Order: sequence, then C-alpha cells, then structure tokens
Amino acid sequence: MPSNAEEALKFLKDNKIEWVDLQFTDLPGRLQHVTIPASDFDENSFKEGFGKLDGSSIRGFTMIYESDMILQPIPQTMSIIPWMNGVARVLTKVYWGGGKGRFERDPRFIAEEAERTQEEQGYTSFFGPELEFFIFDRVDLDVALPQSGTGYKIYARESPWHDNGGFMIRYKEGYYPAPPIDQLMDIRVEAVDTLTKYFGFIIEATHHEVATAGQGEIDFRFSTLADTADKVQTLKYVLKNVAAKHNMVATFMPKPMYGDNGTGMHTHFSLWTKDTKKNLMYDPNDEYAEISQTGRYAIGGILTHARALSAIVSPTVNSYRRLVPGFEAPVYTAWSKSNRSAIIRVPSYYRGMEKAKRIEYRAPDPSTNPYLAFSAILMAALDGVNKKIDPGDPVDENIYHLTPDKRKELGIRELPRSLDEALDELESDNEFLKPVFNSSMLNVYVDLKRDEAKTLQMYPHPMELYYYMDS
Ligand code: GLN
Ligand code: MG
Ligand code: MG
Ligand code: MG
Repeated sequence: MPSNAEEALKFLKDNKIEWVDLQFTDLPGRLQHVTIPASDFDENSFKEGFGKLDGSSIRGFTMIYESDMILQPIPQTMSIIPWMNGVARVLTKVYWGGGKGRFERDPRFIAEEAERTQEEQGYTSFFGPELEFFIFDRVDLDVALPQSGTGYKIYARESPWHDNGGFMIRYKEGYYPAPPIDQLMDIRVEAVDTLTKYFGFIIEATHHEVATAGQGEIDFRFSTLADTADKVQTLKYVLKNVAAKHNMVATFMPKPMYGDNGTGMHTHFSLWTKDTKKNLMYDPNDEYAEISQTGRYAIGGILTHARALSAIVSPTVNSYRRLVPGFEAPVYTAWSKSNRSAIIRVPSYYRGMEKAKRIEYRAPDPSTNPYLAFSAILMAALDGVNKKIDPGDPVDENIYHLTPDKRKELGIRELPRSLDEALDELESDNEFLKPVFNSSMLNVYVDLKRDEAKTLQMYPHPMELYYYMDS
C-alpha cells in the first residue's frame, strides 16, 4: 500500500485504476462511500480533497441547510478492491465546505484528537481488538412496515437442520473442532487472505467461536489508535463482502441469537512512552501479573468510568442482551488475570515479555464506532493514570457466582442493563472525555442513541406475543 500522496498517485496508475471509492464513517460507526473517476486525482487531491459529500443525509453529520462537505483522502489507506475490476478504495477525513476546516463530528477527527492529546502528555498507545461475528446463510426479516410485526428467522450453514453431511456442532462446542464440523473455514480464510494481500493487514489468527452455529473471530496485529480503528472498519467491510460473494451475510451485531454466546470486540490496550521505547504497563517485579503501577492506574480509570464508557463501547439496544451472565461477556466492573467474568483481564500467556504486556477490556462489542471507542478507552485510562486511581484488588473468583453482598464488599458494580441507562451515565460522567470529545459531537451522539433506544422500545417483540397473547 502507498505511504504518501505521490505513491498513491502512482498506485492508481500502476494498478490501472479507473474508479476510486472515497470512504468515511458516520457517527454510529457505519462505513459510507461515494465513487469518483480516478482521473480526478492529481497532486492537489490529497491536500484539497473532493467536494463530493452531501452531509445532510448522513447520521450524525449536518443539517439540511449546511450540507456541502469535503472528503480528503488518506493516501496510506488506499488499496484495490479485489472483488471488483479497476476500482480502489481510500479512507478519507471529512471537512466542512467553504473553507470552514475540519468537521468536528467526523469520528476519525476524534481519534486524531485523542492521538494528539496523548502525545502532548508524553504517551503512545496501542490497540488490538478481537473481532467476533456471525456468518449466516440468510436472515428473513419481517420489519418493513411498522404494522407488520418484528419477526425474524435465521438460517445458518452450521445449524442442525441444514444439510451439512451429518456433522453437527454440539451446543456451545464450536470452539475449536476442525472441519468438517467447522463449516466456515473457507470464508474466514478467504477474508484473512484478502486482508493480508490487499489491505496491509498482519493477521494473528482466525477461528470458529463458541456459539453453536456460524460464529467466528479474526485477530490482527495491534497498532496505533486511528490506524487500528481504520482496520476495524476495513475488516468488517471485507468480511461482509466476502460473505456476500458466497451468498451469505456476515453480521457484527452483538447478540443475534437468544441462549448462545454473543459477539464481542475484546480490546487489548497498552500505554507506552511517546518514543515507544518503554511499555508503561510492564513491571517484571510484579508477582501477580507483571502489571505495573501505571497499568493498575489505567485499569482504575477504565473501571471507574466503565458505566459511562458502555454508552460508547456497547452502544446499541442489542448490546445489552449480550452483557448478561453465563456467556463469557462481562457484567461486573472488576479486574483479574485470567478470569473471563471480569471486565478487564491482564493476559498472562508469557512471562518476561515487555512487548506483550497489555490489558484486555472485554466490554466492547463490534456494533461500536471504533474511532470513538478507542478514543474513549484511552481517555478513561489516562484519567486513571493522571489521578492515580487505584483499581482495588483483582478478583479471581467467578464473579457471576458471588452474592450481591460480597460484590458490594469488593466494590464491584454492575454494568448498565440498557442503552438508556448507559446514556444516563454518559451524561453524568463525561468530564474525562472532554479534552477530546467536543460537546457538539457528544450531544448529537446522545440524541441519536436516545432516539434509537426510544424507537426500539416502542416495538412489541415477537416474544412478547408468546408471553402475553393470553392476557
Ligand atoms: N463471545 C464472547 C463475548 O461476547 C467472548 C468469548 C471468547 O472470546 N472466548 O465477549
Ligand atoms: Mg480471542
Ligand atoms: Mg473470542
Ligand atoms: Mg479475548
């Protein structure tokens, strides 16, 4: 992939590109695009950008009366789209039209602000998300009209009723039986291969996940904040398109099925000195998990703000169907070494490896906007470090099984149970975000999410008919 504007221009020529897809992310986190002729690109394009965006129809962007916006391509993100001929894509930064500067609700702008803020304080951070997802054959929805109900049926290649040659994954035993039991290896491998060959990814692993039918995971090498968020958007884009090519659907919604594991985006995080010479999370003399005092403060910051962070890292109505006991998703604000019921884990696969020392924050799910999620995680961690917030002792018991009294004694709080509750928390606890999240962005975000919660709250769910038809 190109490393600057000049190389990007050459890249377009060398690959005989005729069309370029300009991509950016809306406030809720969905990738958006507009396609322009490659012949429009010249030396100035990467500075001046393209006036091609009507922001008035993008969620969280502008009002109808001030909608002309500019998309400025980021040369390092240019790659060919291998499932099309002569087409490249490039991620962009969003500007107001009329020379009014950077658009303050562009999620990537928030991520760049977060990077600038940490640098001013002498830090660099690294993020490594584990992307989980489901791949289904088909989902039949019946939600087109408000009057028509809200039914859905999911068809999965790995379901017991599918013609799958006699092999069937036993309930919650999808993690890790080899094919032919795992029937989605072909699609996962095609996706990681595409990401590696065309989109500059270093893949660490891909595997089936615990849920019975259709769940998988892709893990890629950790990187800096904005770059990692770009990669999350790219990975989702590529997997969805590879699945679509096979007439399947990939979904990153947190809990598509009742009674089985949901979909998380565990996020590994480490704080380093600005010159990246020293991992500040690492202390070889710490008996418990080689985690430093700074690392403990970072954990303290995230635990303290965990309830408010939920509104950003678990940002959909559906997220709260995942955050329940029994499915390896976190419910309580505690930290530990290898306890998967805690919200923060300090992975301890290796000893004596400075580079690998990080914390794993398990609350996020991939319905989040990764630019906002990573920025908010960083700000919570820095707040902990700056204020020396003590996270308390680690909890190595199964927290799902502790009595409420015991949890209280240990200072363990519950995560919000709904999007509305999380938004209440965000509205009362957001000072720590303020250096990076401008109030225009926060206000519009909360309004959008309140609307989403309210709309869904007004829909009767099919299960309600099952429970209450006999009323
Ligand atoms: N799917 C689980 C979650 O929702 C995680 C399971 C795992 O990674 N082992 O967080
Ligand atoms: Mg994993
Ligand atoms: Mg996993
Ligand atoms: Mg994990």
